[in-house]
Amino acid sequence: MSAHVQAVWFKRDLRIHDHRALYLAAQNGPVAPFFIAEPELWQQPDVSHRQWAFVTECLGELQQDLSTLGLSLRLEIGVATDVLSMLHERLSLHTLWSHEETGSAWTYERDKRVAAWCRQNGVVWNEERQNGVIRGLPKRDGWAARWERFMAEPPSPTPESVQQAGSPSHAKIPTAADLGITPDPCPLRQTGGRRQAVQTLNSFLTKRGETYRTAMSSPNSAFEACSRLSPHLAWGTLSLREVTQATNKRRLALKAGERGTKSAWRGALTSFSGRLHWHCHFMQKLESQPSLEHANLHPAYNGVRGGPGDHTLYDAWAKGETGLPFVDACMRALIATGWLNFRMRAMLMAVASYHLWLDWRRPGEHLARQFTDYEPGIHWPQVQMQSGTSGINTVRIYNPVKQGFDQDPDGRFVREWLPQLASVPDAFLHEPWRWEGAGQVLDKAYPLPVVDHLAAAKQARQKIWAVRAGSTYRDVANDIQKRHGSRRSGVKFIGRKRKPPKNQNQLTLDF
Ligand SMILES: Cc1cc2nc3c(=O)[nH]c(=O)nc-3n(C[C@H](O)[C@H](O)[C@H](O)COP(=O)(O)OP(=O)(O)OC[C@H]3O[C@@H](n4cnc5c(N)ncnc54)[C@H](O)[C@@H]3O)c2cc1C
Repeated sequence: MSAHVQAVWFKRDLRIHDHRALYLAAQNGPVAPFFIAEPELWQQPDVSHRQWAFVTECLGELQQDLSTLGLSLRLEIGVATDVLSMLHERLSLHTLWSHEETGSAWTYERDKRVAAWCRQNGVVWNEERQNGVIRGLPKRDGWAARWERFMAEPPSPTPESVQQAGSPSHAKIPTAADLGITPDPCPLRQTGGRRQAVQTLNSFLTKRGETYRTAMSSPNSAFEACSRLSPHLAWGTLSLREVTQATNKRRLALKAGERGTKSAWRGALTSFSGRLHWHCHFMQKLESQPSLEHANLHPAYNGVRGGPGDHTLYDAWAKGETGLPFVDACMRALIATGWLNFRMRAMLMAVASYHLWLDWRRPGEHLARQFTDYEPGIHWPQVQMQSGTSGINTVRIYNPVKQGFDQDPDGRFVREWLPQLASVPDAFLHEPWRWEGAGQVLDKAYPLPVVDHLAAAKQARQKIWAVRAGSTYRDVANDIQKRHGSRRSGVKFIGRKRKPPKNQNQLTLDF
């Protein structure tokens, strides 16, 4: 066997297009592409069957795509370092290639063990960047310009023909049962794979995206009007650079072709581009501070939440049985589809954190499992932001009844996901406890509210304000802002003192 075998470890980059690790490996010797299905990873509390199901579809297409280059994907089940030892014994690895992964604490620790294994075994491990996240970033200044530069670079070419290292593998894609993953029915889940990813991108940029700006907030329109690229970005069937460049190309075409005409497209694609920046902006936070998956970003919130009623409240929230119709409809839609738009994700997290006063970790894990697009680097900073524990973001206590009337005014969404409320008149659908006939439905087909949402929000506001009024709160928040805050936005505490508002409603906005 050649002394220069290049092993390519596919992780959250399940494509051959704009795949820098594969491109560079192919230039350096015969290639052994492999994917490791790690049983221990798939037992972690933040992952689920629906995600594995999506991944298997991606792997099926990756196998096909690699075969067009003359490569055969090895599918190994086991512990990463054991798999590497086995491959090394058979193929005598020279270099290991992969993309950098901003993963969970579990994958971070695993990668440290892989790095140690490589050192011990004299194998070079090259980890390539695949998005705007910068490893070992000392400070945030200049980050946005570096993001732009990275996204403007030409995509890595797909190698035309590559020499396979070792004999072809005929292994089947492991099933969820092989990995001991508990079934998690998600009948309306998005389908994985490169073909679907490209189709989704094209349909968004040419048809579905026009109403993005106005339609993204309501769950009645968001399923169609949002790009729905998130699981493809999370598992890497598309690179963020491909999406960014396709978006820029479309913007230029629109600019050239629609001079003088009014179109929602331009605004839509500007907003969408902003979201593509956010993708990496949030991931950078976890990359720079992995502890934020488990610990409050602002330590003033340590021990603030939690109480004896937690289990019952958590269960009601997680099953979509809080008795707050819009919240429950969102949760049930999420369970059945694996996706929810941003505003509704934020509302679910805010209701758990403020109205139910739950510590964010368990609700955060529940949401992570429900999302086919679970991306730790976006998820955990968002969970902390929506729980108010980041210390640098505006506290947003969503009013779930107002959200219902604003985002689902005709009750279509609630009626779809909560058919047991069929007899409730439209005017009371989002607060059925106010209907004179409530006794026919509540505490029978549908639960009574687990909390008085207005009183609970008021109490939460007071408790949050008490934390924020602490003497060192602002100084710590300043440090967090310096480390993680966007240089364009964010709560700017620096250099000015804020007095407690006379009306506490001003502190926390009821969106
Ligand atoms: C509590 C909470 C948890 C979240 N967890 C995840 C997660 O695990 N994975 C995930 O991809 N997104 C997460 N988001 C962000 C956002 O809700 C989703 O990215 C978006 O709904 C995905 O749908 P889309 O691809 O159609 O988005 P679009 O609106 O079409 O946006 C395109 C892409 O931009 C990025 N993006 C959009 N909104 C955000 C945002 N607010 N922050 C960071 N990136 C963004 C995503 O990569 C998204 O795919 C979370 C938001 C909240 C409030």
